[in-house]
Amino acid sequence: MRFVPRFTDGQEFPCALGKIVCVGRNYADHARELDNPVPSEPLLFIKPSTSAVPLEQLLDAPFSRGDVHFETELALLIGKEVSNATSDEAERAVVGIGLALDLTLRDIQTRLKEKGHPWEIAKAFDGSCPLSSFLHLSQVPNWSALAFTLEIDGELRQHGEGADMLFPVAPLVAEMSRHFTLEPGDVVLTGTPAGVGPLPRGARLHFTLTGGLEVSTEVVD
Ligand code: ZN
Repeated sequence: MRFVPRFTDGQEFPCALGKIVCVGRNYADHARELDNPVPSEPLLFIKPSTSAVPLEQLLDAPFSRGDVHFETELALLIGKEVSNATSDEAERAVVGIGLALDLTLRDIQTRLKEKGHPWEIAKAFDGSCPLSSFLHLSQVPNWSALAFTLEIDGELRQHGEGADMLFPVAPLVAEMSRHFTLEPGDVVLTGTPAGVGPLPRGARLHFTLTGGLEVSTEVVD
């Protein structure tokens, strides 16, 4: 089934979801918590459109394959084609802002990283990108004033701020467009702040984003 991005006011985006371009280690505190060096250029990877599921739906994950880590990230909906974009052009290509989970099979990823192998099966599997509806750009403040949170069973676990990104939105999207043409319906994930951990089975998750986005969901037991 094709995933079609929608806005929080119910409006459907005119194209189906395309690829999801992601960045690893875009917050220094998260790089440190996993003992990873802070990168000098963005570490990019892609999740296919088949990895997306609505964030609002009951969250199921391949728990039989080891720890499934949650990573809460700001998601940007791309509204027009950009390639080799300047920061200004990249910023103007973004038409919506939402939240996503970059679900990660951490045990498998660690094993693959140790061998120097690609980690697609740990990051790009079916259902690995629960994705919210998007706020229109007019509903949110400027990038650096954006903040988002994840509470698990009522406890604050992740808190991210646009101002803390090592590669802020405009230069990040511009850099992505130098490697991968971004097309309408593509989504960009901007990295996770500290606080990641294994998704607890049966837990209740609550997400907020500046501008009025709130999503609650539950993990299968
Ligand atoms: Zn991530």
